[in-house]
Amino acid sequence: MNSDHYPPDFLFSSILRRTKIIATLGPASDNPRIIKEMIASGMDIARLNLSHGEESWHRETVMKVRSVAKEMNREIGILVDIPGPKLRVLYGSPPREVRTGDSIQITADTKMAGAIHVYPENCIPTICAGDTILVGDGAVTLQVIKPGPPMLTTVVSGGTIREGMGVVIPGRRPSIPYASPMFQESLRRGISMEPDYIALSFVGSADDIRAARHLLSSAGIDNIPLIAKIECVRAVEGLSEIIAEADGVMVARGDLGVELPIEQVPDIQKRIIRTCNIGGIPVITATEMLESMVSRGRPTRAEVTDVANAIVDGSDATMLSAETSVGKNPGQAVFMMSRIANETEKHLPYLRMLNEREGWHEKSVEDIISYRACYIAEELCSPAIVAYTRSGLTAERVSRCRPRAPILALTPDPLVARRLLLRWGVQPVVSKPIESADELFSTSIAIARQTGIASSKEQLVIIAGNFSGKEGRTNMIKVEELP
Ligand code: PEP
Repeated sequence: MNSDHYPPDFLFSSILRRTKIIATLGPASDNPRIIKEMIASGMDIARLNLSHGEESWHRETVMKVRSVAKEMNREIGILVDIPGPKLRVLYGSPPREVRTGDSIQITADTKMAGAIHVYPENCIPTICAGDTILVGDGAVTLQVIKPGPPMLTTVVSGGTIREGMGVVIPGRRPSIPYASPMFQESLRRGISMEPDYIALSFVGSADDIRAARHLLSSAGIDNIPLIAKIECVRAVEGLSEIIAEADGVMVARGDLGVELPIEQVPDIQKRIIRTCNIGGIPVITATEMLESMVSRGRPTRAEVTDVANAIVDGSDATMLSAETSVGKNPGQAVFMMSRIANETEKHLPYLRMLNEREGWHEKSVEDIISYRACYIAEELCSPAIVAYTRSGLTAERVSRCRPRAPILALTPDPLVARRLLLRWGVQPVVSKPIESADELFSTSIAIARQTGIASSKEQLVIIAGNFSGKEGRTNMIKVEELP
């Protein structure tokens, strides 16, 4: 299971890894052979970043992922990432090499030749001479000489400025309303791809999430999980109210590290993860996790340690960005992340994690059963906790408790299965609808055997709610020994 042979065999990718892997697709990973390698290596969720690339490309890539997943008989989640209010270098601008000491002009006026053009228009915040401007998450740093317009800057640290790169002036937010026409258009494109989750960039408050939900519900979409990307000062300050409104959170360290002093990122990451763990919502740690694999076959020791630490901190998922969208070997980057996760998870303090979570859940029947199932599994050294779930809720509750045993989530609904792919420790299995407790026990035993997760004399802990009627009411717990 822990061989470093690449490409891996199929089993490596899934059954015992608890941390979920999200991989961003791009020009390096838009062919079916590479997508297949990424799935075999452990990609659980494919991310499409609508900040880059044409709509037709995104649409075709989503279709390729679905078709490869079907061919491999796997459920793979689709996460569509919607751009937020951010200044960017205008699409269509040719790449421009700038050197330290060069003078360059920045403007939204496309008629000005020789300048770097940014959009949207009329949204450049009020700036002062001396302000710093970071282009492309800090790939190029400029300093404002004259606020303009047009703004005159000098290059402090040179590099290549490309179309679509973000333009950030730390401490000064662009005056763009959250649900701007541009945002609405991106959301419309995103939902037309029928994703399993939507990530919202640059959320500043719970109101921004409510505004997105309102737009979605006006389009007839009521239940798609919304992931709030935490990447600006306002979001960090309003974290608790954002977590109460969102279905998940992403620690978007790329923008976070330019909007705030970079040295604050590690502590903020830990705080966000812990707040999400306590609140019971999934949290993704993202950006530059294995960055050197964009151009090399192996990550640095520091990157490997970063992934491991994000897992120890409590991330449900870790994410690859440039490593898989424009990197040299997307499958290998996913494989490396799987290997790090598998190894790190061997050493997690499961019992301590479980004890700590006792006070974090509500005292409802559903939560108590889910929590106690983890304890029973721990004491019996169970190879798996089986959760039959029609809405996904039963498996989600168990996942929050971080049990040592993998959570096999049996569900008749493929959409629920794909949404559960974001949950730590959950291995969704699409089953036929189950109508009685006896049917659940025999199906659980059969699936545990088929997946190779359990063998004779081992004891499965099985939980479920009603088999018909209201969903999400976890009220049954049973221990079944495999014959
Ligand atoms: C980030 O900023 O870290 C991030 C994940 O967002 P994006 O890729 O849109 O920059």
